[in-house]
Amino acid sequence: MTTGTGDTKPYVVRPMMNRDSQAFWDGTALGELRIQVCNACGVKRFPPGPACPECGALDRGWVATNGTGTVFSYVVHRYPAVPGKEMPIVIALIELDEGVRMIGECVGVADDEIEIGMPLRVDFNRIDDDLTLPIWRKA
Ligand SMILES: [Zn+2]
Repeated sequence: MTTGTGDTKPYVVRPMMNRDSQAFWDGTALGELRIQVCNACGVKRFPPGPACPECGALDRGWVATNGTGTVFSYVVHRYPAVPGKEMPIVIALIELDEGVRMIGECVGVADDEIEIGMPLRVDFNRIDDDLTLPIWRKA
């Protein structure tokens, strides 16, 4: 499937980018998986947001993670089809070594192989100049 604009790039569902998440996407473009950190109390968090859920401070920064974690939970998506994707898609909720969780697509992990506790390592799928998606592989 293409974008229908005459180019032959594969179509991808593009994530929402905004002021709160821009630093995350700037990081993936550089090969860094970043999470937000509260500059007042030090709590790390994901997804990013304007205020710290612990102390309410608005002073926030970003840190690069190790890019490793384990499967906390997962789903195998078989239907409906997703444009540009081969079914099934293995989607995990990954608990990062830093203690926060994020959702990601597992690549090279079979649907009958994924299991809770499986160690994963992030990799990066560069789509174009504006978008590099994090993906997860067996560590
Ligand atoms: Zn805080």
